[in-house]
Amino acid sequence: MTVRVRFAPSPTGMFHVGGARSALQNWIFAKQQGGVFVLRIEDTDAARNRPEWTEGILSALDWIGIVRGSYEGPYFQSSYAGEHRAAAQRLYEGGRAYYCDCTREDVQARTGPQQRGYDGFCRDRGLEPGEGRALRFRTPDEGETVVVDLVRGEPTFENKLIEDFVIARGDGSPVFLLANVVDDMSMGITHVIRAEEHLPNTPKQQLLWDALGVKPPVWAHVPVVVNEKRQKLSKRRDKVALEAYRDEGYLADAMRNYLMLLGWAPSGDREIVPWSVIEEEFRLDEVNPSPAFFDEKKLRAFNGDYIRALPVADFVEACRPWLTGTGTIAPPPWQPDEFDPAAFAAVAPLAQTRIAVLSEIVPNVDFLFLADPLIDEAAWAKAMKEGAADLLDAAIVAFEALESWDAESLKATLEAVGAERGLKLGKAQAPVRVAVTGRTVGLPLFESLEVLGRDRTLTRLRAARVRLV
Ligand code: GLU
Repeated sequence: MTVRVRFAPSPTGMFHVGGARSALQNWIFAKQQGGVFVLRIEDTDAARNRPEWTEGILSALDWIGIVRGSYEGPYFQSSYAGEHRAAAQRLYEGGRAYYCDCTREDVQARTGPQQRGYDGFCRDRGLEPGEGRALRFRTPDEGETVVVDLVRGEPTFENKLIEDFVIARGDGSPVFLLANVVDDMSMGITHVIRAEEHLPNTPKQQLLWDALGVKPPVWAHVPVVVNEKRQKLSKRRDKVALEAYRDEGYLADAMRNYLMLLGWAPSGDREIVPWSVIEEEFRLDEVNPSPAFFDEKKLRAFNGDYIRALPVADFVEACRPWLTGTGTIAPPPWQPDEFDPAAFAAVAPLAQTRIAVLSEIVPNVDFLFLADPLIDEAAWAKAMKEGAADLLDAAIVAFEALESWDAESLKATLEAVGAERGLKLGKAQAPVRVAVTGRTVGLPLFESLEVLGRDRTLTRLRAARVRLV
């Protein structure tokens, strides 16, 4: 039997990193089993769906390597409403479901506010279908439902504790639980790999599979993803959107490697490994069922390692969207015609070792492309103290006299200027750096001045000097 898995996101918001993790696990599992990955967009909640979120999911999946055209779908759940209704009808006709006209208040009046769930009042009333009548599944009174779960063993649920749950609302529309099962069934899904949050639905869904006469799939409920306070990652509180990480300049390879470490680790004492190793070594039954901590700091460090490992030419290419502003990435502060690719290529290796996310390239190199540097006033106040004017005067004279405008000569010159004033190089550099780049930190100063060139450097030093008068 061919393994068929599916990833079934609801397009009700930005694409969550936890979803991306589940998608990758499905993807790898399918590949290892020689199976098929199906993408199904669960868009039945018309009030909360938006087409741009579907597009966001598709493009974010593309980004992490689940590329359109290399999987089956996307299918849209809303296209199968007829099948969902037919399944509800079959369950009703087969006596596995019954109509119910109880309101929540009716139920509570009978059971008291403490008891949760439905009391089965309409089970044997034989109500006909009708407006406002919900269809409830008749759960078995006895026995237990054993879920075979590759991550969690065999969670077992006593049937008598499962209420007669609603499968179609009063307006006749089937609920998520049923639609999800019917689609999995008609798409021939053999393994359902999804987040732990759905585990409470699983015994109900498995009862539906049984009642519809099809062998249930094998399940794998992968751990919930939490923040540093062990709270489930939430889109209101945490940065959860895969697109946000992409636009900040995380590399897809770093991101997908990191996502796969949520609850699993490759062999040996290593975390950064080529994707091919993950594809080979990942095992669903090795996934740790405990909540997985999404550690943004660690991801950042990870990304820095990935950036440093790039060949310089690839790094230059990877920076391009932030240097030009493409798609959802904000344009840089300089005009397109101010950008100088040769100057960028000259400083790129220096920047590559210093940034953790690609968007950080912009503040590191903007001084090269802007007509005037963006002066950070706090940096200015810190660097332009007593003696700064005198130091700048001396630096201007000494730099003007330089025969060769190269980093080494610039360094030796400023070192000498500083020494005459009893200043170590670090102290002597500060006013020059702020005058030229606008900041107190950045790329190595003398290489920066070499690339910026004699005229522009001197112009900036003189402008700073004028401001100090
Ligand atoms: N559409 C559901 C969700 O986004 C997924 C259900 C499932 O994977 O079974 O949470």
